[in-house]
Amino acid sequence: MNIGIDAGGTLIKVACLKHGSLEFKKFPISQLEYVASWICGFDTAKICITGGKAALLKSSLNQEAAEIVEFEATCNGVRYLLAKNAISEDKFILTNVGTGTSIHHVDNSRQQRIGGTGVGGGTIMGLSQLLTGITDYEAIVALAVKGLRDRIDLKVSHIYAGAEPPIPGDLTASNFGNILPLVSTDQLTKEELLASVTGLVGETVATVSVLAAGQCGVSSIIFIGSSFIGNDLLKEVVQNYTKLRGALPLFIENGEYCGAIGALLYY
Ligand code: ATP
Ligand code: MG
Repeated sequence: MNIGIDAGGTLIKVACLKHGSLEFKKFPISQLEYVASWICGFDTAKICITGGKAALLKSSLNQEAAEIVEFEATCNGVRYLLAKNAISEDKFILTNVGTGTSIHHVDNSRQQRIGGTGVGGGTIMGLSQLLTGITDYEAIVALAVKGLRDRIDLKVSHIYAGAEPPIPGDLTASNFGNILPLVSTDQLTKEELLASVTGLVGETVATVSVLAAGQCGVSSIIFIGSSFIGNDLLKEVVQNYTKLRGALPLFIENGEYCGAIGALLYY
């Protein structure tokens, strides 16, 4: 059996290849010791680890494990999933929305990390907790999808009210910029606040990705990372905003496991 592990800042993603079929599991990073003891049960497995917590996890294992650089692993995993799904993209921007966001230019077999932003899934968790006190990921996602952003976010069309804006009116002019001094913030619901947090993260991630696509002369952007797990609102914001800014957004099934798959492919 081959096991690929991507130990990131928030989640440990595991891909196992058993009798030709791939299986996936994920654990919170707080369960690192548990994951190490679980892996120790597979004493004949070929193990490869990637991600920011790879060295820490490796030091807790009592068997041999290879370690590879996270960006190489992620891009190899993406290529594997594209081929498996018969998607023929070979030049694209790859945006990994993890705890933070990492942006890569992939051109056939080459990849280059061209930048990133600290605005990512961790921002959703942190700002959501600060604004609403909620810390549970599923609860944040379930409430956000019910919220409207109109009372919190300022659109270009709000500023140009009654006039023709020079850019699409649906673009956000200012995230969190529409809170009037008259509206007391405790009138805002958790749903509205969480929807706007999701909007801020999705629009930032889409905007930097579209700028990267322009810089690299490509039009497709593949979005991966656990931040999209069960979060259709974030997907929708990223998708709409990417299209509005003239690029082509793509999401791949099991995209959050690209790093783990790439690690597994090491052997
Ligand atoms: P990085 O690559 O930046 O080191 P990571 O690999 O741990 O971090 P991902 O696993 O891709 O990052 O994504 C983490 C994000 O996924 C969280 O910030 C959160 O928004 C979201 N998420 C999805 N499911 C969960 C969950 N069960 N618990 C906590 N966060 C979750
Ligand atoms: Mg990661």
